[in-house]
Amino acid sequence: MIRKRVLVTGGAGFLGSYLCERLIEAECDVLCVDNMFTGSKRNILHLLDSPYFELMRHDVTVPLSVEVDEVFNLACPASPVHYQYDPVQTVKTSVHGAINMLELAKRTGARILQTSTSEVYGDPEVHPQTEDYRGNVNPLGPRACYDEGKRCAETLFSDYHRQHGVKIKIARIFNTFGPRMHPEDGRVVSNFILQALQNRPITIYGTGNQTRSFCFVSDLVDGLFRLMNSDDAVTGPINLGNPHEVSVLELAERIVTITGSKSELVFLPASQDDPMQRCPVIDKAKAELDWEPRVPLQEGLTRTIAYFEELIEEGWFRRAAMHGGETTRPQ
Ligand code: NAD
Ligand code: UDP
Repeated sequence: MIRKRVLVTGGAGFLGSYLCERLIEAECDVLCVDNMFTGSKRNILHLLDSPYFELMRHDVTVPLSVEVDEVFNLACPASPVHYQYDPVQTVKTSVHGAINMLELAKRTGARILQTSTSEVYGDPEVHPQTEDYRGNVNPLGPRACYDEGKRCAETLFSDYHRQHGVKIKIARIFNTFGPRMHPEDGRVVSNFILQALQNRPITIYGTGNQTRSFCFVSDLVDGLFRLMNSDDAVTGPINLGNPHEVSVLELAERIVTITGSKSELVFLPASQDDPMQRCPVIDKAKAELDWEPRVPLQEGLTRTIAYFEELIEEGWFRRAAMHGGETTRPQ
């Protein structure tokens, strides 16, 4: 049997590790390329014994020459804390990384899928967001390195498709959560769960009335898989996310209830350019991929809480406790 050779950039990260797993289950031969900035061997330890999984430490800002049939381009830090750590490198990862991977796809004839983001909509003036909305992004703010980098990558994908006939797919991913999230990524789900489990104050930035829509990781990976395997005419962009919208305050209250925590809610200043609302219209994904999320928020949170409980038992957070248990946060 001839296995499809699939390259996953960012394969040791949160989403990438589940995608590698799914591809091996689908009898693909997987090459995971990662510079380990936010990724970790812990995420892929269980795959290292498979003859159909290979890990290559490599930075996508440097050209790569390998022979593959498909490329999933996930390499890029995704949380505000991580992508704002070295903003210039974040832009390079999105832009130079996209060019390098598109060149590879052009040379090999591989299909290539870009993991774009709901951040391309910025702080949206249209709600909920459809794919034809062009967005409201501040090109100068602290989130711009990520938002504009991802927007430019979408442009590059479109131009390689038009100009060179590269077979592209663009997924716009909305907030996704689940086990294997980086415990220090400062994202709302991981922060709130860790704070609740340790009975520390729950840090709400701003009023807590801002909204997000949270998709469980298994649903999201299923969407990426379906998109890659869709007809060549389906290029995207396609929103992938859970259309169940909740406020940050409601999320905090749910997590406190599920964990039975004694944590209080504390209100801190809002982050700059923080989008006030975010919710995907997923009609296109339903029609073109026959996809919609299946895992309800409550179930996804319960499973994610169990994962963070394990990390605490393993002693992951002693260091955080030594530093007063402070939580990282973006600008
Ligand atoms: P993550 O930070 O866990 O994974 C990103 C991976 O890319 C990490 O393993 C990291 O080490 C690697 N990486 C970063 N820069 C690299 C470089 N220059 N060269 C090689 N590898 C590099 O994040 P994630 O949540 O798994 O996100 C994966 C992709 O999905 C990202 O492109 C992100 O923008 C996109 N996305 C994620 C979400 C979400 O909610 N998780 C939402 C929208 C879009
Ligand atoms: N947020 C918060 N407290 C935290 C972390 C995040 O109130 O400890 C808020 C944040 O300001 C934003 C929302 O939760 O409004 C989602 O933040 P996250 O960083 O998870 O994702 P993104 O802003 O990229 O959607």
